[in-house]
This record gives sequence, C-alpha cells and structure tokens, in this order.
Amino acid sequence: MDYLNRGTEKYTTKYWVEKDKSAEFPSEFLTSISELGLTSVLLPEEFGGPGMSISDYVKLVRQVSGLHGVAGGDLLMAHNTFGIFPLVSIGSREQKEEYLPKLGSNKIIPSIAITEPNAGSDTLNISTRAVKSSGEYILSGRKIWITMAHLSNLMLVLARTSNEHTRTTKGLSLFLVDPKVHKNIRISRIDDIALRCLGSCEVFFDDIELPESSLLGKEGEGWKALTPVLNLERLSTASMAVGASDLIMRETIDYAVKRKLFGKSLGSNQAVQFPLAQGKIASEASWRLIRDGAAKHDRGEDYVLEANAGAYLAANSAFQIADHAMQVFGGMAFAVDMGIEMHWRNLRLFRVGPVSEQMALSLISRHILGMPPSF
Ligand SMILES: Cc1cc2nc3c(=O)[nH]c(=O)nc-3n(C[C@H](O)[C@H](O)[C@H](O)COP(=O)(O)OP(=O)(O)OC[C@H]3O[C@@H](n4cnc5c(N)ncnc54)[C@H](O)[C@@H]3O)c2cc1C
Repeated sequence: MDYLNRGTEKYTTKYWVEKDKSAEFPSEFLTSISELGLTSVLLPEEFGGPGMSISDYVKLVRQVSGLHGVAGGDLLMAHNTFGIFPLVSIGSREQKEEYLPKLGSNKIIPSIAITEPNAGSDTLNISTRAVKSSGEYILSGRKIWITMAHLSNLMLVLARTSNEHTRTTKGLSLFLVDPKVHKNIRISRIDDIALRCLGSCEVFFDDIELPESSLLGKEGEGWKALTPVLNLERLSTASMAVGASDLIMRETIDYAVKRKLFGKSLGSNQAVQFPLAQGKIASEASWRLIRDGAAKHDRGEDYVLEANAGAYLAANSAFQIADHAMQVFGGMAFAVDMGIEMHWRNLRLFRVGPVSEQMALSLISRHILGMPPSF
C-alpha cells in the first residue's frame, strides 16, 4: 500500500512548526490519518482491518514520516505498534473484542509506559509493582518520559508482579490501563525538546486498583511478551528516522540548489554535496536492514540484529543529515519557522531512545557476537 496523501497535503512543515511551538497535540492530523485507515493498518481482517504485513507497514511509516516528519510517523506507530500489535499477539478474546474495533479511531490514544527514573537502559531494574489482592491488582510506582500519557486512554504498563530480585526477566507483567478512569494516577508534562506537540510525561501510580482483566498476557511473562513489541518499535522508529531523513534531505537540496553564493549555487560545492551523499548511503543501508528485519518478522524469524543495527544506523545517519542541514541552511537554520531545527531536535532523540546507541551496540556484541554482557 502506498501512502497517497489524500487530503493530508495541508499538514506541511508550517503546520508541524506551529504545533511544535505551541506544544499542542496535532488532533486534526490524527483525525485525517485515522479516516484514511492508517492508524489501523495492522488490524487483522477478522476485526475489519487490512491485516498489513510488517514489510508493508515499515514502508508506510517511512512514507508518512517522509511527508510529515517524526511526530506524524509517531502517531502511526502509537496506534499500530503499541496499541494493535500487542493486543493481537497476546490479548485475550475479550480484550481483543473490547479494544481492537476502537483502536484505529482518533478516540483512542495509546501509550507505552516502561521507562522509570532509575530504569531507562537498565529496564529490568523497574520498581513499579502490581500486587495481587482480593482478585485485583494494586499498581504503584512511577514512570517517566511517557509520550502522550496526558492524553492517553490506553496505556501499556510494565510492572513487577513478583518479589523476585531485581534485574531478572522473570516476574514482570504487562497491564492495560486507562488513565482517564483512575483518580490516583497523576500525570505531569515535561517541558522537553523532542516531539513537543505530542508531549512526554511523568506518571505516578498511587495504589491504582486494576481488575484482573487488565493483565495482558500471562502473569510473570511480561518480558517475553514485551520483547516483540520492543523489536517492532525499533523497526518503526528506524523507519521514521529514514522517512524524516528523506524529508530533510529534500528540503536541504532544494535550498542548497536555489541559494546563490559567490556567483554560483551553494549546492554545487562538494563540501555541501558529499555529506548529503554519505547520509544517503548510510540511510539507505539502514533501510535494507529495516526491510530485512521486517521480512524476517513476517516469516516468523528472529530479527534482533536487524532491529538493533537498523535502529542504530538509521538514527545515526538521520542525525548526521539533520546536522548537515543545519550547516547548509546557515543562519536560516536558526529561524524556528524554517523547521530545520525542529527536525534536528526530533531526530536527536533516536540516538537515545527507544534504544540508545550504546544499548544497541551492547545487544549486538552480546547476542550476535557472543561476547559477555557489558551492561
Ligand atoms: C522524548 C522522549 C520520549 C520518550 N518516550 C517514551 C515512552 O513513550 N515510553 C517509555 O517507556 N519511554 C520513553 N522514553 C524513554 C527512553 O526510552 C529512554 O530515555 C531511553 O531508553 C534511555 O534511558 P534513560 O533516559 O534512562 O538513560 P540512561 O539509562 O540513564 O542512560 C544514559 C546514557 O548512558 C548510556 N549508558 C548507559 N549505560 C552505559 C554503559 N554501561 N556504558 C556506556 N554508556 C552507557 C546510555 O546509552 C545513554 O546514552 C522517551 C524518552 C524521550 C527523551
């Protein structure tokens, strides 16, 4: 499926810059893409969706991000990767029937809550706990950096359900939480520099009572269930980075070719061209890894190398391209309305999250090269 941009041409860089400046949610854009069915592409046919393959999905994420940047691609990812994918993979029949028909609409805002103040890269060190008591779970703890948490009505939360010692994959569980129905959830927005229009938040769970039906998958097996979601998240954000690279590269080339300095086009200088050519090589190399990872996913094969190497290379090349764009635009890059610094800030994020460069290298060293754990 090709993204045809039907009616969404109006969501230009100008639109995203305004949303970024005011840190206001792009609700019109979400409505448009949900009407086009893009927020439910991973929905299986039995639930009324197209049941898109992951190979086609990453292509779509690249195309949407190539027109609307990282924030636009992120909305597509939230619904499909964090909302539909885990529910389809491990949801009970009742959970599927309850959430899946609603998930593609603009009424549901999915989010994922894993990171904690003392557990970012060190995810297994989380201290959020869900303790079973009289047929329900009592959830307590604190999360940080949860994108769209202030708007979310479907949050996938990782918590410990056992008293196992920390840093073990055992005893973790996933829960579906609607923050809008619980009084004891406090959410405060962080004044941040990436994805400003979507907003990232601190979330405090103060003894939230959750019915047993909130548990997604089996108790204590949350890590096993979460790993495929995290791998798909890496392919998704890497596709966003490649798409946003396409966008910023187009804008940079257009500017460099038109800008006349010293009697010739700025774009005719090799110092301007070569970093763009190097960026293109690295970006397309990352795209091959992403495509291979997506194909392996569709064949049911392991793709830990492609997920992490693709995320690493896509994040790195996207930031190099964005940083070069800052140079080519010169002073104009510092004018917020140009949108260049917005792409630069947004693309810087992927070198830190969802998987940091160091974490990706460490995972490859350990799982692909067979070296001892360094983290
Ligand atoms: C805008 C934004 C949105 C986000 N959205 C979400 C979300 O929706 N849901 C969610 O759960 N999380 C989210 N995150 C969190 C993100 O996934 C984490 O920031 C990321 O995983 C890194 O964790 P940390 O910030 O705790 O960094 P830390 O774990 O403190 O690491 C800091 C730095 O040190 C490096 N490092 C750590 N250990 C070593 C070592 N042994 N050797 C060398 N270097 C090391 C890391 O690679 C990193 O660069 C978001 C973050 C941001 C900024």
